Amino acid sequence: MSGLPGILKGLVTTARTALRPTHTAEYPDVAPDLPPRSRGVIALLEENCTSCMLCARECPDWCIYIDSHKETIPATTEGGRERQRNVLDRFAIDFSLCMYCGICIEVCPFDALHWSPQFEYAEVDILDMLHEKDRLGGWMATVPPPPALDEKSAEPAEIAASNKPARGTGLVGAGGAATGGPGARMPRTVRPRPATARPQPESPEPEPPDAT
Ligand code: SF4
Ligand code: SF4
Repeated sequence: MSGLPGILKGLVTTARTALRPTHTAEYPDVAPDLPPRSRGVIALLEENCTSCMLCARECPDWCIYIDSHKETIPATTEGGRERQRNVLDRFAIDFSLCMYCGICIEVCPFDALHWSPQFEYAEVDILDMLHEKDRLGGWMATVPPPPALDEKSAEPAEIAASNKPARGTGLVGAGGAATGGPGARMPRTVRPRPATARPQPESPEPEPPDAT
């Protein structure tokens, strides 16, 4: 192309570009095809949250706000002890401060926070970017199901725990030997000992008493 005049080079470039397929995203008429682990918004599964405050403490932007109070649960048996549990009053995330690092989701020990790929929640007023727990809970409907486990991966800890025999009863949980589920274990067999007795060491001959 070095011998062609400039105008011809330009026409060739124009023709080549015109024949290439276009990659223009037709959003919002066509929804984008997002990768499965897209970070759009954080959803809250309220019943899993124990108000442990771990997410709020670890958030580098301090944009998680949690309020809770303790509630006394009466004893279920006579003479039993009362118990206390945390009741979540407020859980809010300020998405005008959030930097979508995902630390809160990683540290939550009870799987109460999840990523949703939903990203269409822009607001005219920045104060509306503060999502309270009802709105955060509403995002749960848009959280995709977790990907299937690899074929040879280890059994999830929750299922392995449910398959363990209950202590002292010999019973097993769901999926265990009692239910014939996939995690059923064969009962331990006790092998009988062989009939041949172990050879005993020969006892020494008794010495004759002294003839004195
Ligand atoms: S994603 Fe990061 S910045 Fe946003 S709320 Fe969670 S911990 Fe805070
Ligand atoms: S969302 Fe998870 S880490 Fe945060 S307070 Fe609730 S249980 Fe604790």
